[in-house]
Amino acid sequence: MNLRTLICPYDPELINGLSNREIGVRVDSASLVSRAAEMVRNSGNRLLCVILDSTQPVEAVPWEDAWKGIPILLTAPAAGEFRKLVHKLPLLKTLNLKIYLSATDENIRDARILSSLGVSCVLRIEAGAVDWEALTDLMTYALCARAPHAPIDPFDYIARKYDAREHLKWGGVYLEDAEKYFHLDKEKNVALSAKEALARQFIGRLDEIEKAEPEEIAQRADAWSRNFTGNSPCATCEGFKICMGSFRPEDGKTEGCKAFFSETIETLGELYAQKDRAGKERVWQL
Ligand code: SF4
Repeated sequence: MNLRTLICPYDPELINGLSNREIGVRVDSASLVSRAAEMVRNSGNRLLCVILDSTQPVEAVPWEDAWKGIPILLTAPAAGEFRKLVHKLPLLKTLNLKIYLSATDENIRDARILSSLGVSCVLRIEAGAVDWEALTDLMTYALCARAPHAPIDPFDYIARKYDAREHLKWGGVYLEDAEKYFHLDKEKNVALSAKEALARQFIGRLDEIEKAEPEEIAQRADAWSRNFTGNSPCATCEGFKICMGSFRPEDGKTEGCKAFFSETIETLGELYAQKDRAGKERVWQL
């Protein structure tokens, strides 16, 4: 069985009881970032990243020089006031950092500003109240803007993995992919997402699951295929290849998501065609 990366709470007993695994370690206080990274690195495991769950906006996080060299995923409710954040930018730009924000109207706007200032972001898109037009503008900026800017995910991730001949699963950008990540609690119970771990929706214990993989994992990995059947609006959607029905709103109004994912595929096609043309030109330049 394929050994998943483990997303663990900061718990020395749990992490020291694991060996030779890739681990993302979750902390809820900035004061634990360095300690958690060091603990994983000294435990015989590999550090994927430290996930710092902040209830404060990015601007109010007590950033430290000591975090240089530590891959960090900061989840925060908002960027906060840019006039305050701007003073922290010199340090932020030296860190190996991604800032994870939910796709509210404000965060869609701020992700663009952060990216233009050299700070990478991950926008959490969820079905429901999303401003798909604003998201389309951001996608276009993330993929096409010529001015230097830091990557914005999931767009950068999708662009790197996209293959026009295949469906693309990109839950991994949120550490949610049943084939790649397990989320653990302190007792080694396994959930398939951070949200499910928080709600204590576990599928079993790590040692048992790794001996005999439960059917639920394969079902979860193939859940998208159910969106491609019957009268589902997803079955005829041009954006299905990179959405796979994941963003179908409960009210059934799919105009926004359809337009967004179709335009993303169109943009990716255009970018690939440009690269192809540029490659050919290079070969025949005299
Ligand atoms: S973008 Fe298309 S595939 Fe995705 S939820 Fe909307 S209609 Fe379904």
